[in-house]
Amino acid sequence: MKPLNTDVLIVGAGPAGLALANTLARAGVRFLVLDRLAQGQNTSRAAVLHAHTLEMLEPLGVCVRLEAAGLKLAKFSIRDRARALVSLCFDALPSRYAGILMVPQNVTEEILADALVAAGGKVGRGWMVESVIDLGDRVRAIAARGAERRAIDARYVVGADGMHSVVRHTAGIGFSGHRYDESFVLADVEMQWSHGRDEVKLYFSPAGLVVVAPLPAGTFRIVATLADAPEFPGEQSSRRSSTREVRNMAVPRFRRSYGVRGSASTTASPTAIAAAGSCLLETRRMSIAPQGAKA
Ligand SMILES: Cc1cc2nc3c(=O)[nH]c(=O)nc-3n(C[C@H](O)[C@H](O)[C@H](O)COP(=O)(O)OP(=O)(O)OC[C@H]3O[C@@H](n4cnc5c(N)ncnc54)[C@H](O)[C@@H]3O)c2cc1C
Repeated sequence: MKPLNTDVLIVGAGPAGLALANTLARAGVRFLVLDRLAQGQNTSRAAVLHAHTLEMLEPLGVCVRLEAAGLKLAKFSIRDRARALVSLCFDALPSRYAGILMVPQNVTEEILADALVAAGGKVGRGWMVESVIDLGDRVRAIAARGAERRAIDARYVVGADGMHSVVRHTAGIGFSGHRYDESFVLADVEMQWSHGRDEVKLYFSPAGLVVVAPLPAGTFRIVATLADAPEFPGEQSSRRSSTREVRNMAVPRFRRSYGVRGSASTTASPTAIAAAGSCLLETRRMSIAPQGAKA
């Protein structure tokens, strides 16, 4: 098997891998970006782009599209029912992108992927990088697509392969942290809500917390604490039960416990749930790469 040669192999085409691929394409660096998924993910996941992220993305020429696709907000508050305990304003930041831009992650990824094509690159999809070996003057990765296997030699390998990164693991880069005690249900919903679409609101109460964040196209992201989330989110059964949780538990609890004032027609009440999932949250910190590591 004669290896393919490149300067930089990027493993993973999430937002990190796509942003790097765009940067290298514009700088004229030879690279290959591979992702094990046959298609990009279509879920909304991280839905806020901060001002400095947009500043970093500006040279890639994607900000006009991101701003057109997103909903720009300035305000974030932490509340006890109707009372604001903490109010933050992002519109005074010293940046031309001052504010917080609500954009579902799948939209961000789509815009980055389109920009990559416009810059002459593309993601090699369906390729799972199985191993990475340091050969001293280069790194060799073995990638598989079905029964097909390819060796790729690169001067550098970048691990943009997410939480369970093969690259980080191979390079011996630590990823230590811990899991939060609570688990969460997260849903994108259409709902009756008379408390404005100009602010992200986090409600605290003894029953747990609920976040309501306006998203583009008239929808909202709801995040609420939950008793027991499954270890691995995303399976059909878990999605179905999460949707039930949002309808049966989170929103009525939100209505009662959080005492949002207003008539019945103006309190939170989802009319449609676009996506729901429950999850455990972890906080992790990546170590500095050990001396000599090429990833
Ligand atoms: C339900 C949910 C909600 C979330 N909400 C938020 C939020 O509100 N705010 C927030 O900041 N973050 C949120 N996140 C986290 C956010 O999605 C991640 O931080 C973000 O996706 C990380 O981007 P990334 O490019 O580093 O990696 P990822 O997006 O994880 O991309 C990694 C890519 O690498 C590919 N890959 C992995 N292993 C291999 C391999 N061996 N070979 C080839 N390809 C490989 C994967 O297919 C994937 O496409 C959420 C995540 C989930 C699941």
